[in-house]
Amino acid sequence: MLPNVEGRPSLSFAVVEAALRSGYGLKGSLVGLPGEWDQNLRLDVDSSPAFVIKFANTGVAAEALDFQNAALRWLGRRWSSADLVPQLVRTRSGKYVHVVFDEDRRSYRMRVLTYLKGEPLRSIGSPTADTLTRLGQMLGDLDRCLMEFTHPAAERELRWDLRQWNWITSHTGCIRDLRRRGIVECCLLQFRARLGSIMTRLPISIIHNDANDDNVLFEMDGSRGWVVAGLVDYGDMARTWTVSEIAIAAVYSSFHAADPIDTLLTIAGGYHSVKPLIESEIQALFPLMILRLCVSVTAAALAGEEDVDNPHRQVSEQSAWRTLERLEPVDWLEVEGSVRGACGLKSRPLRSDLARQRVQHSLEEERRLRIGPSLSLSYQTPLEIVRGRGQFLFESNGRAYLDCVNNVGHVGHSHPKVVRALARQAAILNTNTRYLNPLLVRYARRLTATLPEPLRVCYFVNSGSEANELAVRIGRTCTGRRDVMVLDGAYHGNTQTLVDLSPYKSEGPGGQGLAPWAHKVPTPDPYRGLHRGISEKVGHAYAEYVKEMCCKLVREGRPPGVFICESMLSCAGQIVFPPGYLRDAFHHVRAVGGLCVVDEVQVGLGRIGTHMWAFQAQGVEPDIVTIGKPIGNGHPLAAVVTSPAIAEAFNNGMEYFSTFGGNPVSMAVGLAVLDVIEEEELQEQALRVGLYLKKGFNDLAEGHFQIGDVRGQGLFLGVELVEDRESLEPATKLTTWVIERAKADGVLLSQEGPYQNILKIKPPLVFDESDADLVLGVVDRALLEWSRRGLS
Ligand code: PMP
Repeated sequence: MLPNVEGRPSLSFAVVEAALRSGYGLKGSLVGLPGEWDQNLRLDVDSSPAFVIKFANTGVAAEALDFQNAALRWLGRRWSSADLVPQLVRTRSGKYVHVVFDEDRRSYRMRVLTYLKGEPLRSIGSPTADTLTRLGQMLGDLDRCLMEFTHPAAERELRWDLRQWNWITSHTGCIRDLRRRGIVECCLLQFRARLGSIMTRLPISIIHNDANDDNVLFEMDGSRGWVVAGLVDYGDMARTWTVSEIAIAAVYSSFHAADPIDTLLTIAGGYHSVKPLIESEIQALFPLMILRLCVSVTAAALAGEEDVDNPHRQVSEQSAWRTLERLEPVDWLEVEGSVRGACGLKSRPLRSDLARQRVQHSLEEERRLRIGPSLSLSYQTPLEIVRGRGQFLFESNGRAYLDCVNNVGHVGHSHPKVVRALARQAAILNTNTRYLNPLLVRYARRLTATLPEPLRVCYFVNSGSEANELAVRIGRTCTGRRDVMVLDGAYHGNTQTLVDLSPYKSEGPGGQGLAPWAHKVPTPDPYRGLHRGISEKVGHAYAEYVKEMCCKLVREGRPPGVFICESMLSCAGQIVFPPGYLRDAFHHVRAVGGLCVVDEVQVGLGRIGTHMWAFQAQGVEPDIVTIGKPIGNGHPLAAVVTSPAIAEAFNNGMEYFSTFGGNPVSMAVGLAVLDVIEEEELQEQALRVGLYLKKGFNDLAEGHFQIGDVRGQGLFLGVELVEDRESLEPATKLTTWVIERAKADGVLLSQEGPYQNILKIKPPLVFDESDADLVLGVVDRALLEWSRRGLS
């Protein structure tokens, strides 16, 4: 059960007075106090405050109340500073909770606590360094005392438990101010990316979890200044990351101090002197402070949305925004170094921003000199990426980017299992394939087991291009024909043969047109192609062009040897074929004796979720499959897989040999990648998250007319942006703008299609729902901003 607005009691003073008398034998005068969920009152005896009366929200479970009471009793008995904690007053019958009925016979749980004197932090002006140090020391001491404390209700659903922060990712939409929403979403992304591995190593214990500016009380102690006099409100106690205690105290103290970072450092220093922080806590501290601010502002926005008339909940909203806006641009690594310093630990030297810019500039200059200029860099200002982990890439300053582009880092960048397999095998042996080696056959066995019969024979190479080059060679050799059919807009690789047959290249800038032996048929694009709509009829209509081309080539006396196409089109515009297209197209090609090659370099290996290989979604059996990018997870590994009959026909005396193809290191990597896909159920994840993301984009499309089409399957999605949903005029400028905006906000997307108006999304498969929320947020904001600012 959770506290809720309806559950906030509002008992009359008469009822409370009667309950105090009968339950506790207490009397005096009552004063109402603010309370977020509970009804709180003060009982003054002889004109001075003596007790605090709390009526619990009806949504609070009995165990949760017992948890608070148990904690108060624990601290009362065991903490050397027990005088800082209110004491629970027992009823006449010795209970800690007294059940009270209102006039309508509804029951409420009442507790009475001793009143602690003191000024709340918010009333003592700007706290001095000494005051903050004492606050840190008190919290360190408190958390030490709580380390041994356990309670079954300590792990409950609680918005204010930072370990449960993830709830905000799907609620940032309540923040109406776009710039502010962007700040929160960027912070969340940074938090997820940078703390991903640290989070599991953070110590956990029960903490107070709410050392805010109302709950910490101070009293003036002569020349010592303000000293801690009490800590009240144990309602948000939780078993969570222990270090959150400091982050929370720092947030609220900084609302009243000149510098939020100095505040954090001082409290952390005090805390560390009593309860030393470990390395992971030092790394997490500042990010947790940011996270707590994000939780506060999102909760406040949500409360606004729910129209809750409870000023207490929004009391610190403005301060939280101000602080978050100040802290957002701050370099996390720099603060981490300062925390280390404040705790008397040695800091690692950091490259300054200026030094980083200089390094990047010189990299760019030297690249211009030493790397062929036909290789372009992504983005207006190129990124210097120095590290990858999971679905994230990192710049040298530690800033993270959510990678929605790299279908190569299929199971996640630098996946530890893959890296280990690679390193282990590299330390044992790496040779060519002219020796017997179990890894080669083992990998061939495992890879072919993912493919339908009769695709059982492998050739291993090092790139998608090499795979397609070999596939075309096999097709030509087996059929004795030279001509090849392709789809318009297709790209199959960088060798001369493949450039000659890829319209994307040969008909693009600098191209010399398709080779005379290469023949293109229209792209089966159900959105803006010659036939529109997703139906068998449309699939059939597009396949008719294949038939026509086959007949034409037969008539001309040069029937096609090979028909090559991707199973879903990537470069041609993230296109999913209409149903039946490949089945009919293959039928026509085979009718004239051609072989059908599918290129799974981009879309294969579980990416589409429903099937391991994208051609399976079309219900066809290709003669040859080419596989590349994802199977090596970044290591250069690619393959051609075909049937024993075709392999036999290709074996015409001319040997096929690739120096590196199939080497033991590549095989070890390939095996590890297959293991990870299975162990981490990544195909299932691609399906689940893909559906979630696609639905999210479809929902966005309702508010943004520029989203013309949302398509794709699993984690292979395309979002086509248009100026007008009738004319389908491509919104190319907008697409470029969205890509750059997203990059500025920490999300890497790419731009695709003949008009460069399609957002292409094909992240590592470890991408999850929170990542999807971040991408949706970024695209939503970019589109809103474009419309609001009248950009065009
Ligand atoms: N086929 C397709 C569909 C591709 O997208 C690519 C590369 N983008 C290739 C083949 C060529 O692969 P590689 O760059 O590994 O040679």
